[in-house]
Amino acid sequence: MTPLRLGIDLDGVVADFNAGWMARFNREFGTDLNPALVQKWDGLADLTHFDHMGQFWRWARNEEGSSIFRDLPLIEGAAVALAELARDHNIVIITAKPRWAIHDTYAWLADNQIPTREVHITSEKWKVPCDVYVEDSPTQLAEIAAKRPEALVVRFVRPWNQPLPRAVDVTSWPEFTTLIAAGAGVR
Ligand SMILES: [Mg+2]
Repeated sequence: MTPLRLGIDLDGVVADFNAGWMARFNREFGTDLNPALVQKWDGLADLTHFDHMGQFWRWARNEEGSSIFRDLPLIEGAAVALAELARDHNIVIITAKPRWAIHDTYAWLADNQIPTREVHITSEKWKVPCDVYVEDSPTQLAEIAAKRPEALVVRFVRPWNQPLPRAVDVTSWPEFTTLIAAGAGVR
């Protein structure tokens, strides 16, 4: 079997960003937010009392302690799927993060025993060469599809993204492992 370079996004794909920040927000402010409320890519501040995303990120950074990126729960099935995929392929983590979240991201990857030898923290994800990309961001999906025509682009289906002509959809981690086991992404 040819080992593939699998470019894996974190937030919304491996890490449950919305469940994580909402748990912290609910504890702090006595609210009852749940991840099903997130239906758009840019609507997080509307779910809170924050006037704009700048305020949200200031809170998320939490300068007195760890940021929200330190203790996000795993997306269902991600740990098992990554362990399985890592036996035959290279897991390449590609995640866009604010500068202040870099150390929390590495700590999170270690805590959760993510089987990777290669981590890229960048918003220019397409620049990291991979055979397959798994992503949930509508802007990243469009950019990778446009700039990596040779690669397989996989949309991790979420309410905040839409089908793309060049992307294959998966709705769960078992679906992704099945796709790769069937030979998708091999050139
Ligand atoms: Mg993401």
